[in-house]
Amino acid sequence: MTYRLVARKSEGDDVVVDVNGVEVGGSRVVVIAGPCSVESLEQVLDVAKEVRRLGAHMLRGGAFKPRTSPYSFQGLGEEGLKILALAREEVGLPIVTEVMDPRDIPLVSKYADVLQVGARNMQNFTLLKELGRVDKPVLLKRGFSASIDEWLGAAEYVAVGGNKKIILCERGIRTFETHTRFTLSVTSIPYVKKLSCLPVIADPSHATGKSDLVIPASRASIAAGADGLMVEVHPNPPQALSDGSQSITVDEFSKLMVEVRRIAEAVGRYL
Ligand code: PEP
Ligand code: MN
Repeated sequence: MTYRLVARKSEGDDVVVDVNGVEVGGSRVVVIAGPCSVESLEQVLDVAKEVRRLGAHMLRGGAFKPRTSPYSFQGLGEEGLKILALAREEVGLPIVTEVMDPRDIPLVSKYADVLQVGARNMQNFTLLKELGRVDKPVLLKRGFSASIDEWLGAAEYVAVGGNKKIILCERGIRTFETHTRFTLSVTSIPYVKKLSCLPVIADPSHATGKSDLVIPASRASIAAGADGLMVEVHPNPPQALSDGSQSITVDEFSKLMVEVRRIAEAVGRYL
């Protein structure tokens, strides 16, 4: 597999993605936190204020949700995007949110600071090509059945269009194991950082599917060299409209930040 634009040839071509002044890929470890889905203004504001207070650098929340069942909550769409924008105004954190359809890129770009490509869309080449023409950072999740070459090939599609502001996100792959939702490929983090010039973050929430594994998976990811984390935090996980079992509470997030800070410092970085 040939990657031309996203390959790492020397230290000099390492990409640092600037998201409204928050640099991803530098010595700071960046934490993106927030609910899986945008459910209401109250829910998002509540989480946003708390994670901001505890040191998160960006706010996540899905308005367009790729659900396994068409009968599950599909997200609030544009109303959800408006809620995210209000939260940004109120707390000042940049917004990361998913875009599922190339036709929604103009709409989502109007509100979002980072456009997320979900695991299920990692090889939606039409979407990737369109995102190459957008002047916004792209957070490209690894498909859960995607090899490293396929993942980097997807990043190359975005870069070929002229957009090299790409953040890669390891979010777990499907294996024979059923106790965890997916399997966090810890080694893909340093491996992809060696192959590619792009920053790599980890998503311990989807990788494990279990809230009590989120902190250990976060520690492991940062120890392995991840440039950041994307974590699902909900004010009341059992009531969440999606991914409640892997969502952590604000108290657990507070603990996560303390532990991750220690690991970051141990590997010569800071939070
Ligand atoms: C999400 O971030 O909520 C999400 C749907 O993630 P993934 O695409 O990695 O499953
Ligand atoms: Mn989720």
